[in-house]
Amino acid sequence: MILLDQLEAQLEVLNAKSLRRRRRTADTACAPRVTVDGNPVLAFCSNDYLGLAAHPKIISALQQGASLYGVGSGASHLISGHSRAHAILEERLADFMAPHIDACRALYFCTGYMANLAVLCGLAAVSGRATEIFSESLNHASLIDGAKLSRAQVHVYPHGQVQALQSLLEASTAATKIVVTDSVFSMDGDLAPLAAILALCEQHNAWLVIDDAHGFGALGEHGRGVLEHFNLRSPNLVYMGTLGKAAGVGGAFVAAHATVIDWLVQKARPYIYTTAAPPALAHALLTSLDIIGGAEGHARRLHLQELIAQVRGDLRLQRWTLMPSTTAVQPIIIGDNAESMRAAASLYEQGIWVPAIRPPTVPDGTARLRITLSAAHTHDDVACLLDAVNTLEARA
Ligand SMILES: *Cc1c(COP(=O)(O)O)cnc(C)c1O
Repeated sequence: MILLDQLEAQLEVLNAKSLRRRRRTADTACAPRVTVDGNPVLAFCSNDYLGLAAHPKIISALQQGASLYGVGSGASHLISGHSRAHAILEERLADFMAPHIDACRALYFCTGYMANLAVLCGLAAVSGRATEIFSESLNHASLIDGAKLSRAQVHVYPHGQVQALQSLLEASTAATKIVVTDSVFSMDGDLAPLAAILALCEQHNAWLVIDDAHGFGALGEHGRGVLEHFNLRSPNLVYMGTLGKAAGVGGAFVAAHATVIDWLVQKARPYIYTTAAPPALAHALLTSLDIIGGAEGHARRLHLQELIAQVRGDLRLQRWTLMPSTTAVQPIIIGDNAESMRAAASLYEQGIWVPAIRPPTVPDGTARLRITLSAAHTHDDVACLLDAVNTLEARA
C-alpha cells in the first residue's frame, strides 16, 4: 500500500542516519537497579532525582487515594472531575511556593507538557496575535509547541544570552510580552541566568514563564526549585513545576498570582478540555510534598549533590567532554550519532543503562550520553558507571 510504503521509506532514512528510536521495556519499578527487557541493569536515565518513584510511603498514599477517591476522575475539572484531592493538593502547592509568589495559587495538570501549552496559550489569549513570546533557543519541546499553539509572534533568543533578549524586548511594542525559559536545560543540565532575565522582564513589563521541570524538588534548601535556588520573587513570575520527576508521581502544576490562575481556568484550552488526572495521584502527591519539604527531602538533596561532585571529580575524559553542569543532568558530548549509539550499546552490554541523545532532540553534531543521577544511587553505583565510561572512552 502506497501510504505504508511512504512511512517505511522514511523509517529507513532514520535507520541509515542512526536516528531510529526504540523503546526498552522496564519490567520493574523505576529505581537504579531495574530489569529491562528481562535483563538486570544499573540505570542512569530516569528523572527520578530524589528516588521517590518507588517510595513505600508514596505507594501507600496512592493506594489509600484509590480507596478514598476511586481510580478515575470521570470528567474534566470544569464539569465534575475536580475532586477534593485536587483541591487540597493545589492548596498545599500554593502554600509551598508562597515564599516566592505574591497571592500564590496553584493549578494542577495531568502533565507538564499540557501545563506548558496551557500557560502560553492562556497568557497569549489576553492580547491574541498582538502577543509576543521571547523563547530561549534550548527550550523544551512542550514550550515550543505551546508557543506555536498560542499563535503569538515568537522570537527565539540564543542560549543564555541575556543581552540578545534585552535587545528583543527593547524593540518590542507588543501589548503582551512573555519571556519563557527552562530553568535547568534538560539536555545540557545548565541553569538559565534567571535573576538577570527576571530583572529585564520587570523593566519591560513582561511575564516570565519558568519551566522548572528539572528543578522542582531537586533544587533549593526546601526543594522549592529554582525560585528558591536563586531567591527570586516577583509578580511577573509564572512558575511551572512537574510532579513526575523529582516528585516521583506524575502531573505538573502552575503557581502564579491568584488572578493568573483564575484566568487560566477560564481560558486555557489544554486545561479545560481534558479529563482531570486520577484524584488518587493528587492524594499521593501530598505525601511526596511532605517528603520533599521535610528532613528526608533535605538529606536526599544533599546526597544527590555528593553524587554530582563524584561524577565531576572522577571522570577522566580525553576526547569526549563532560558539560559544565551543576545539576543531576550530567551529559557527556560525543558528537557523532553512530559513536554515541555504540557507546550507549557497549555500556548496556555491561549492564549499565545510559541513554544516547541524538538530533533532533539536541543540535546536529552534539550527540551525547546523558547521565542522570538520583538520590537513590549509591556512591558505588556511580563509581561503577565512571569506571565503565573511563575505560570505554580510552578504548574507543
Ligand atoms: C519533562 C519536561 C516537561 C514535560 O513534563 P511532563 O510532566 O513529563 O509532561 C516539560 N519541560 C521540561 C523542561 C521537561 O524536562
